[in-house]
Amino acid sequence: MSNSADTKLFHWADQTAEKIIRERGDLDVYTCASGITPSGTVHIGNFREIISVDLVVRALKERGKNVRFIYSWDDYDVFRKVPANMPKQDELQKYLRYPITLVPDTFGRDESYARHHEVDVENILPKVGIHPEFLYQAERYRSGMYVEGMKKALDNREKIKDCLNRHRDDAHKIPADEAYWPVSVFCSACNRDTTTVTGWDGEWGLSYTCECGHGETADIRTAKGVKLGWRVDWPMRWFFEKTVFEPAGKDHHSQGGSFDTARIVSEEIFDWPAPVTFRYDFIGSKGNPGKMSSSSGKVVDLADVLRVYQPEVTRYLFAGTRPNTEFVISFDLDVIKIYEDYDKTERIAWGLQAAKNDDVLAKEKRIYELSQVDGMPSCVSYQIPFRHLCNLLQINSGDIDAVLSSLPDLLPDQVDRLKTRAACAWYWITECAPEDFRFALVADGTCAELSATEKTAVVTIRDSVLPAMDGLDEKALSERLYAVANDAGLDPKDLFTAVYRALVGKERGPRLASFMKVIGPERLSAILSGY
Ligand SMILES: [Zn+2]
Repeated sequence: MSNSADTKLFHWADQTAEKIIRERGDLDVYTCASGITPSGTVHIGNFREIISVDLVVRALKERGKNVRFIYSWDDYDVFRKVPANMPKQDELQKYLRYPITLVPDTFGRDESYARHHEVDVENILPKVGIHPEFLYQAERYRSGMYVEGMKKALDNREKIKDCLNRHRDDAHKIPADEAYWPVSVFCSACNRDTTTVTGWDGEWGLSYTCECGHGETADIRTAKGVKLGWRVDWPMRWFFEKTVFEPAGKDHHSQGGSFDTARIVSEEIFDWPAPVTFRYDFIGSKGNPGKMSSSSGKVVDLADVLRVYQPEVTRYLFAGTRPNTEFVISFDLDVIKIYEDYDKTERIAWGLQAAKNDDVLAKEKRIYELSQVDGMPSCVSYQIPFRHLCNLLQINSGDIDAVLSSLPDLLPDQVDRLKTRAACAWYWITECAPEDFRFALVADGTCAELSATEKTAVVTIRDSVLPAMDGLDEKALSERLYAVANDAGLDPKDLFTAVYRALVGKERGPRLASFMKVIGPERLSAILSGY
């Protein structure tokens, strides 16, 4: 929406965009990068990097900049470890030390193991409004696209060795008498990287031997197995793509870590300033994300999050938190609170609720804008607390259309968002919510085993409270229920328990008066008709 002066610097994405423009000047195109090795399920912590870049990309675009958002699939990296949640572990074991792009998809769906994980991400990102340009590193290396970069690294291998050693203590330095090669080789006979580089002719010929017994001098212009090592590959690609922004996880952003060495290599070897960056922190999860979590080694990914959080709320989790802050994504009762927080931000953004002050207003508005999937919606969402929606769904046995049709003031432009929220709520109730949060109304006319006194009280509710219920607000209804308990000589708590048993066959349920209002007198009388 707006990028007016009063809102622009309240958000870290805007601050980063301004920093990029300040440091890199006026450019025809601002290349912002993210990427990962598709060595297993791309989990929600990895998603934090993608959405962090997306938020900065949006902030740059809103400043009128031409932005290229690239996402690198490092599928030419080596397959080091079989993740516990992958099928056919024994089969995958055979491909250790292969480039991931040559490992088969043991799910049997895609052309390779790497591609399987890439497809999962590429299919789901548009649902949260993220549309990067994907770069496939195996394909790029094998097509010879980086041959000049590799040659440059080989030409400068002594200098690179010095760059890599600069931040290391003596115990971790590459020894002066040890040959350093900036490239690694997948053997053309066995596909594994169990190779040792033995020489380079100063032009295009690189010699290696392999543990399998194979050895050759490969021409790096046509060889299919040569790539740069990670700490050189990264800066070479910053230079190649003219990257001006790339965040990195805290594992790469430690003092003297891979970002620091990549920065030195980038500046001293490739003559390209390292991109503007920030460190993003790890993400944990709390509660049960659903059935699939029982399979061994399951990691929480974006698909798990989107089953419980509608896309705007998912974006909100990240847009509303500074990247260098660790946080957990909850699948337990906290889900209710997260939805409440989002709804409050939304009401503030639409002027339906006052903010504490103008700064809070500007910030909340900006977080809300950045949380939207595809620009600002034409109207505010239908305001229904998540907890209430859960109750409505349970009363209607999960029938979303029935719930929607019970809301007479629902606007046409609110329907899709509410349907998505309802689907998330139903998934959460059935798969994640604590057992005592779940209920189902018993069939009409079912009788619970109640004492004579409890029965009398229930009949009183049915015959004298329900007919007047439409005229009572929640508080008045509650008072009537207490009066019924009093008249019957029952502890109110015991009466409530009896009513819950009569309605949902459990000792507990949602707050009774509001629960009864939601069910409505007709349905209540039908359920209680057997007493
Ligand atoms: Zn070999």
